[in-house]
Amino acid sequence: LEEVAFYDVLTGLLNRRGTETFLEQMLADARRTQDAFSIALMDLDHFKEVNDTYGHLVGDELLKQFAGQFKGSLRAGDVIGRWGGEEFLLITLHTPTSLHPTLARRLKGSWQHPTVTFSAGLAAFQKGDTLQNLIQRADEALYRAKSNGRNRIELAEGDVVERDDVTFLKN
Ligand code: GH3
Ligand code: MG
Ligand code: MG
Repeated sequence: LEEVAFYDVLTGLLNRRGTETFLEQMLADARRTQDAFSIALMDLDHFKEVNDTYGHLVGDELLKQFAGQFKGSLRAGDVIGRWGGEEFLLITLHTPTSLHPTLARRLKGSWQHPTVTFSAGLAAFQKGDTLQNLIQRADEALYRAKSNGRNRIELAEGDVVERDDVTFLKN
């Protein structure tokens, strides 16, 4: 029963409920330890077109492939879950905003596909965060990544990367 309740059947990743449960635990730990962790909300670009063009089964295979490639490239302690249809949430430990350029590059490198791209929004845990407002910042950044042309990664409002080179964020 636990398997069914917390895991996604298609991809084998944690499902929404499993991911939320893990994230709540991360938040509880971070409130105590102040250990920086970050999240990346990732969404496949124009995924509806994949379904419409090649069929739902091909779409399903692509979701499995996405899950598999990211799962294979996780660092110890990191977790990726299926947040919703073609949306995935990565929770990554010890990743302050100064490491977000590195994180963004790592995410880009984790997905190898000739045509299908993804967009992402990154947000770092901040003191006082609840699950809702942390997710909301990542979601807002993801929305910006979409409206700025997709196939790109944006940082949450207020997450300052002290670094001149922000070209890593571009397509
Ligand atoms: P955008 O770049 O703005 O994200 O465009 P999009 O087409 O990816 O976004 P939209 O939200 O319009 O469409 C998401 C699609 O994902 C629609 C839905 O049918 C599909 N989808 C959701 N869950 C599954 C699934 O489990 N399998 C398959 N094959 N498709 C799914
Ligand atoms: Mg999408
Ligand atoms: Mg979506």
